[in-house]
Amino acid sequence: MVFYKFERWKILNILITGGLGFIGSHLVKFLLEKTENNLIILDNLSTGKKSNIYNLVNKENISRVEIIKETVENVDQIKLKNISKIFHLASHASPTDFRKHSLEIMMTNSIGTKKVLDIALKNNATFILASTSEIYGNPLIHPQNEDYYGNVNTLGIRACYDESKRFSETLSMIYKRDKNLDVRILRIFNTYGTNMRLNDGRVIPTFLKQALTGNPITVRGDGKQSRSLCHVSDLINGIYLISVIKNIKYNVYNIGNPEEIEIIELAEMIKKMTCSCSKIKYIEELDDEPRRRRPDINRIKDETGWSPTISLREGLKKIIPHYKEML
Ligand code: UDP
Repeated sequence: MVFYKFERWKILNILITGGLGFIGSHLVKFLLEKTENNLIILDNLSTGKKSNIYNLVNKENISRVEIIKETVENVDQIKLKNISKIFHLASHASPTDFRKHSLEIMMTNSIGTKKVLDIALKNNATFILASTSEIYGNPLIHPQNEDYYGNVNTLGIRACYDESKRFSETLSMIYKRDKNLDVRILRIFNTYGTNMRLNDGRVIPTFLKQALTGNPITVRGDGKQSRSLCHVSDLINGIYLISVIKNIKYNVYNIGNPEEIEIIELAEMIKKMTCSCSKIKYIEELDDEPRRRRPDINRIKDETGWSPTISLREGLKKIIPHYKEML
């Protein structure tokens, strides 16, 4: 059992599950730089790494950061006090992990989410759920707005993630409706940036690694499927805005960059930007792959004024040097 170390009262304590992961570590950076709150990071290091935040912690802010290595399913065994806000980000999210970690993903987003919601309730904390565009499945409408119910195969390989995230959303809504918990749900669309593992399996690190090492760029299917990719710094600004807004109007918000691109075009773009001589290699597509994906972001735009500021080309330019260093 781990005991929570901050003893100061009346200071806002923020719990970030999955805080050492890709999006979590960027959120930690933002909160350390832009707020004075104490941050409790709960992470089981399944995909997260302490090194993702090492360079953020210094003499001035070290007393504000607590790292607890634990899974969200065991969060009830940790003594947590005075939590004002919870960002619930913990979960595998790469499609290549869905097969290997399916049961873990189901448990994280069901039992884990229930236990984190109970912490929120006990502390009367605002609960921000990181949901996903995957809840739309292989969408039959385009672009996807928040009123769309989705098109998900409950029996497929992706279902462990899609259905457990849908369960997380439903459970969170029950806590909101029945227990009056302040719940805010964000459906996060494809995001990229530093701290995404080189071997994560998602498209940007995969293509960058292949292009930078001269290996074939593996395009799945016919490459005509599309995605809309958001730079992580834009995403974090939006997540923060949703977390602080008073009298929030809706239960759920899409968040992502509507700039849509076909995967084959993305491969060509990365090849060109890295001056790579890699060949394009077509490989088999995964089961139940969404054919097209683009967020309708009018809701978050209208309510917070947020919209992405970094184009895909600019974003790639920013991260290519980081991925070069990682090789
Ligand atoms: N993709 C690809 N080659 C790869 C990895 C991904 O063509 O080596 C494609 C994948 O088929 C999908 C898109 O890139 O259409 C985005 O895949 P990713 O795994 O990043 O996330 P998804 O949007 O599927 O959750």
